[in-house]
Amino acid sequence: MTNTASEPLFDTVAFIGMGLIGSSLARRILRDGLAKKITCAVRSEATRDRVLELGIADEAYCDIKEAVKDADLVMICAPVGANEAIGAQLAGKLKKGAIVSDVGSVKQAVIRDIAPHLDEGVSFVPGHPLAGTEHSGPDSGFPELFEGRWCILTPVPGEKESATTRVQALWEACGMKVECMDADHHDRILGITSHLPHLIAYTIVGTATDLEDALRQEVIKFSASGFRDFTRIAASDPTMWRDVFLNNREAVLEVLGRFQEDLMALQRAIRWGEGEKLFDLFTRTREIRRGIVDAGQYFTNFSAEGEDRQSDAKGKSKSDK
Ligand code: NAP
Repeated sequence: MTNTASEPLFDTVAFIGMGLIGSSLARRILRDGLAKKITCAVRSEATRDRVLELGIADEAYCDIKEAVKDADLVMICAPVGANEAIGAQLAGKLKKGAIVSDVGSVKQAVIRDIAPHLDEGVSFVPGHPLAGTEHSGPDSGFPELFEGRWCILTPVPGEKESATTRVQALWEACGMKVECMDADHHDRILGITSHLPHLIAYTIVGTATDLEDALRQEVIKFSASGFRDFTRIAASDPTMWRDVFLNNREAVLEVLGRFQEDLMALQRAIRWGEGEKLFDLFTRTREIRRGIVDAGQYFTNFSAEGEDRQSDAKGKSKSDK
């Protein structure tokens, strides 16, 4: 492993999961010398072998306890539905003073599933880097993924501040802006900004796939940018998104209820020819778009996490594999 730049922030970082997010963080740590050693645990032997081939970890295992035994920082980068089982395998296996963090797209469920398994003397700092693409697996990561994006940390009450500071320093070293908030607040915000848009994309593309064959072929052939953008979002990893919806159920259902009401109001406005209502709404939504651009949150391509792709992703989506 080549350390090229800054002082290491950790001696050993252990990843659990080395897909898009884990491998992007590992590549960044490696590129900038942010840790002395990287280990990882993945589920399949194929991914373990590929990680070693890519040279993005010093050691790779299919056994979590092997990967985490000497770690100062354990970064959980697996789908959130795997957390309960991962948490159980961490119990009694971490050294005193270790920090456990994660990158999961929901936060209350992560705290529920991981925190009860951690021993005294181990700190827990849940986190969520708001950056992604629709691609998956260790080949899809790249070290610039996090540059200029937000990372949300949701520290657990009573946790050591120093642990949060160290995790914050890591994400900042990856080019991220970091903000702390309650897990509940995180889940509500992401329900609107990321989870609902994904649900809409899955629905629209699902509707198109249910059309009769001839019409479906034409939809694909004449696919205009609106539909094309939806298909990119709807190509996001099925396991990850199944787990997100099942683990942020309440916030998603609440925002979905509001969305359905608004959709009904639009339906009514179209039926009754209420052009002014439509025009007013479209004018307001244009302002939101301008606000996002002014806040520097606009990048050219919309992506998996309701965030934006920074460059052409290099990896393959699961369905490409
Ligand atoms: P990914 O590319 O599909 O990679 C998932 C990784 O987790 C793989 O290495 C997989 O190993 C491993 N894994 C799966 N189940 C496991 C288990 N039970 N035990 C141990 N390892 C397991 O996923 P990702 O996109 O990086 O997402 C990872 C996490 O980041 C998710 O929690 C997601 O919510 C969050 N997140 C995603 C994005 C995004 O845009 N993709 C953005 C921000 C946060 P195998 O290959 O061997 O199965």
